[in-house]
Amino acid sequence: MPNPAIALVTGANKGIGLEVVRQLGRAGLCVWLGARDAGRGEAAAAGLREEGLDVRFVALDLGRPETLPLAAERIQEECRRLDVLVNNAGIADPADGSPGEASLDAVRRVLETNFLGTLAVTQAMLPLLRRSGAGRIVNVSSGLGSLTQNADPAWEFAKVKLLGYNAAKAALNMLTILLAAELRDTAIKVNSADPGYTATDLNGHRGTQTIEQGAAEAVRLALLPEDGPTGGFFSSAGPVPW
Ligand code: NAP
Repeated sequence: MPNPAIALVTGANKGIGLEVVRQLGRAGLCVWLGARDAGRGEAAAAGLREEGLDVRFVALDLGRPETLPLAAERIQEECRRLDVLVNNAGIADPADGSPGEASLDAVRRVLETNFLGTLAVTQAMLPLLRRSGAGRIVNVSSGLGSLTQNADPAWEFAKVKLLGYNAAKAALNMLTILLAAELRDTAIKVNSADPGYTATDLNGHRGTQTIEQGAAEAVRLALLPEDGPTGGFFSSAGPVPW
């Protein structure tokens, strides 16, 4: 990967995304911290700069498409290219639930943000990634997006039947597979990361892992060497079944 490499992490003002920014910054990358709220984003970026890291805030809201070309323009103007895109931003919705009970609006909201919003960011950033000699796209998915695991009644998280959230992460995994195939003849690798159940606002801090543990696999996939995989789905424990 060229040095210094340039990364963008979405939804990075807190939680796993913030920690991914920190770890990529510590690895020597210049990192754009994407956040939808300028106050929260600027504050998070300033905190990491105080730690000595090269971190810049960029406004980016998956639900406001007009922010995406503006973010791409900003990165283009200052850096000319992008080497790493970590699609981390995501939501859970309290009215999501099992297929018989989920609110249709909640399912729509989760798909809009977690799948369509992520696709829109990816399309907006692809021209910049194509200018990299070693582009890496990491889609922060979830074990809940695995069709195989959801179909197994004995799976540890089998009771978590959130139709909107699980379907959005399964769709995100399809984006990983199809985009990796589309880009197979380029220098860009595309993979899905399952962070594992991590204590963040998303789950009321009920997750059993630290954010350092939750960020680790996305960081590893963001920094894959040239002979690393593309079109895969991985957690810290290894490959995750689709
Ligand atoms: P979190 O602490 O709630 O962070 C989510 C981040 O996404 C926040 O920065 C949030 O910004 C941002 N975001 C939400 N909607 C956005 C939008 N429309 N545009 C831009 N940013 C937006 O949750 P987290 O646990 O760190 O989640 C990070 C990723 O990991 C998500 O994709 C999640 O699905 C995935 N994941 C988490 C776990 C887990 O156990 N925590 C497990 C598997 C996968 P605001 O602060 O402005 O709301």
